[in-house]
This record gives sequence, C-alpha cells and structure tokens, in this order.
Amino acid sequence: MTQTPPTVTTVCIAGCGPAGAPLDVLWYRLPKAPGDPDGSFARLVPGRLLPMIDRGSYWQGACTMPKGTVASLRVAGIEALRSDLRKAMPFLSSRLDTALRSWEDTGFLEVRVNRLRRWYRPGLLFVGDAAHAMSPVAGVGINLAIQDAVAAANALVAPLRRGTVRERDLRRVQRRRAFPTRVTQLVQRAVQRQMIRATGAPDRPAGVPLPLRLMSRVPLLLQLFSRFMAIGIRNEHVALP
Ligand SMILES: Cc1cc2nc3c(=O)[nH]c(=O)nc-3n(C[C@H](O)[C@H](O)[C@H](O)COP(=O)(O)OP(=O)(O)OC[C@H]3O[C@@H](n4cnc5c(N)ncnc54)[C@H](O)[C@@H]3O)c2cc1C
Repeated sequence: MTQTPPTVTTVCIAGCGPAGAPLDVLWYRLPKAPGDPDGSFARLVPGRLLPMIDRGSYWQGACTMPKGTVASLRVAGIEALRSDLRKAMPFLSSRLDTALRSWEDTGFLEVRVNRLRRWYRPGLLFVGDAAHAMSPVAGVGINLAIQDAVAAANALVAPLRRGTVRERDLRRVQRRRAFPTRVTQLVQRAVQRQMIRATGAPDRPAGVPLPLRLMSRVPLLLQLFSRFMAIGIRNEHVALP
C-alpha cells in the first residue's frame, strides 16, 4: 500500500519577503586573548551589524547583511570581511589572518522566520524548528524547541500510554505553542527591522536606534526584554506524575 506523504504548508510572514527576514548572517569563531573586552557587545559599520557573543573561551562573531547579498560579499573576498572587522574592532587584528583564512572558516545562515499552518497529521507532530523557523535574534530557537517538547510530553504521554493518540491530542500541542511562537516571531521581526535601520542606508547614517538606546539607559526595560526572550510568554513545566 502506498501512503500519501503529508502536505506541509508554511506561513510566510508578511512584510519581509517570503523568508520573513530582511537579513542573513555569517557566523565565525575567534579565539579570545588577554586584554579583550568583557562580555558580549556589538559594533556598527555601514551596512553591517557585528555582534560578538562572549562564549567564555572564544568569541562567536556574527556579521549581518541585507538578505540576498552574501554572493557580493564573497566576490569581494575574505579580506573584505577581515578589513571590516579590523576597522570596527582593532583589538582583533592579530588573530584575523590565522582564524579567518577563508570562507571555510565561516558559516552562512540564511535567516528565515516562518511557521507551518498545521503542525500535525495523524501519526505525525512537528515541534521546534520543524514547526517554526526562528530568527537568530536573541537566541530563542532552543528555548522554543524545548518548550514545545515539554508541551508535547504533557499533552501526549497519557494518550500514548492508553495507546490512542487522536488528532485532537496533537492539535492541543499546536494550540498551546502557536501563540508564544507568533508573539516571539513578531518581536524578532521588530528587532530585525531595527537592526537593518541601525546599519544605515545611502540616505541615512548608521546609528543605534531609539529602542536600543532606551534599553541601555533604563535597566528595567532591558530586564523586561531579557526576561521575555529568556523565558518566553508561556512558561512550560513538566506536569507528569
Ligand atoms: C549557526 C546557528 C547558531 C544558533 N545559535 C543559537 C543560540 O545561540 N541560541 C538558540 O536558542 N538557538 C540558536 N540557534 C537555533 C537552534 O539551534 C535551533 O532553534 C534548535 O536547535 C532547534 O531545535 P530542534 O530540536 O527543533 O532542531 P535541531 O536541533 O535541528 O534537531 C533536529 C535533529 O534531527 C536530526 N535529523 C534530521 N533529519 C533526520 C532524519 N531524517 N533522521 C534522524 N534524525 C534527523 C538532526 O541531525 C538534528 O539532530 C542557532 C542556529 C544556528 C544554525
């Protein structure tokens, strides 16, 4: 007997093109050295935001670019990237030639923000990235994937033990998790727009946007944003005997 494969329809999020994101990201890794700044930070250069995430023993660096422009960056050669980094962060100069020798030392992430219309079919449930592609903004992909998994366990352990998982059991998981996914994607898209604005345009100089300036001056705002991104809006707890 042949089985028809499930049809998967993705909702593309309006306003940012089919991928739901106006930017792509190139990731790279650099060793840390004595005298480096403490903690994560970001630098702005025209057309690019350069976040540096402090991973303890190394820097996880990112280079944002308007969506679809990676090919022109690659044509310019790896030295163009090294030169941007050197200008924005002179303290990195001594390591760039050895740590970023070619594009092989970088990883390209084509950013997408979208989600499935329907997360389930009889005998099948999508959660995490399979159900919703998140932007790397604020690093929430893992949080949402784990929260989806906890919600799925809470909803499905009893039916699985009974041996009868119905479609409505699967639907409960989507109903619970779709709202936090939508709200988180909404916030990520707003932040992405600010990131693109921050990097400037031919008629507008690069600069730190107002919401970010406010957050750096009002600690409560930063705490609220961090809490929202870290914990999300629908906290999940394992509720099994
Ligand atoms: C470069 C990069 C940096 C990121 N940084 C962060 C960050 O700092 N913080 C954060 O929260 N998120 C980050 N993310 C996103 C995060 O990694 C994902 O959101 C998260 O891993 C999603 O979890 P998941 O379980 O849904 O999918 P995955 O972690 O992708 O797990 C899916 C698993 O299924 C396996 N698999 C695939 N096909 C098959 C098959 N046919 N048979 C068997 N196994 C299969 C895969 O090998 C994989 O192990 C980052 C993503 C990228 C690409």
